Amino acid sequence: MEEYTAIKDHDAVSTLMTVPSIGELTARVLVNQGFRDLEHIEKAGMGGILKIRGMGEKKARDIMDEIRGTSGYTAIVVSEFFCPYCEKIVTISSEICHECGRRYTDGDEWVFLPDGGVIDEPLEALAEMDMKIAEGRDNEGVWYVRGCIQESMGAFESANECYDRVVEMNPHFATIWNTKARLATKMGRLKDATQAYRLAVDHRTMGSEVLYNMYSREKEVESPSQGDGAEEIVEKISQAKKMLSRARSTGFDLTSIKGSLKAAIKAKETGELEKAEECARDVVDHSRMAVLTFKLLEKGRRIMGDEELDTPSREGFKRVEDLVDQGMYREALSLAQELIRKIE
Ligand SMILES: [Zn+2]
Repeated sequence: MEEYTAIKDHDAVSTLMTVPSIGELTARVLVNQGFRDLEHIEKAGMGGILKIRGMGEKKARDIMDEIRGTSGYTAIVVSEFFCPYCEKIVTISSEICHECGRRYTDGDEWVFLPDGGVIDEPLEALAEMDMKIAEGRDNEGVWYVRGCIQESMGAFESANECYDRVVEMNPHFATIWNTKARLATKMGRLKDATQAYRLAVDHRTMGSEVLYNMYSREKEVESPSQGDGAEEIVEKISQAKKMLSRARSTGFDLTSIKGSLKAAIKAKETGELEKAEECARDVVDHSRMAVLTFKLLEKGRRIMGDEELDTPSREGFKRVEDLVDQGMYREALSLAQELIRKIE
């Protein structure tokens, strides 16, 4: 069944790529959003296409012009990536983002990874990483390489987000804390840098969950509360909604998280700001844990499909699913991390 969908997706991606401005990444993003043929795209129009994450005005206009046959040229799109500044899909043929106008390269031909690796074609590699992410084939290594390339492009904020994804997936990933510390120093965030350097030394002696919780808690403390409390709650609830919608892609039953979101909104309305904040934080934490657990389960299933897996591991993954069903995300994540560590 899965294979069948993959073949159908592959056909749809190839169909969309007959349009000159639709590269593989654009095609994949469109197919992920349910656009499987050109008629469908034409019907959606500029407005419909622009609602899709990663689609910029220039790209959308080119695509529409080409589909309607009014375009005067036929460029062949080779590789594409998400611009680390405006997050729109751009082609690597240009040194300047055709959506936001930022320049990508400072003449850096090679990127030296902190773990000793070298990337000789950074933009090609970035395109490859973004494609893996769009296809759901990402892992901590993909996010790490993506972060290193974006950092070399000077896109520090975006690179930092990539490194945070690495930490979410595997807080023991080699050199990640040194990498984060170095970037924080470049960004002038000395408190972050100090924390990261400390974890670079200490992380081996800590469990994943302790490490992850310590990291996210300290990050929260670092954004000191200021100004109107109510305004801040609105922001926290909107962040909670965003995380919950990300967790929807897991297909898990998210009743307990939705309950926390409702409680947060209600508490805000009745002026119980502290409670509202607590509930919103639960939504964010649990949604994030749900997403991570889902990824680890997928990884576990892949390994199970490929190789002989001992019975305790199989039973362990079943137990993770049970914990998820019961809304015990923290326990589910911790067990899933343990299982993956054992079988990798
Ligand atoms: Zn851009």
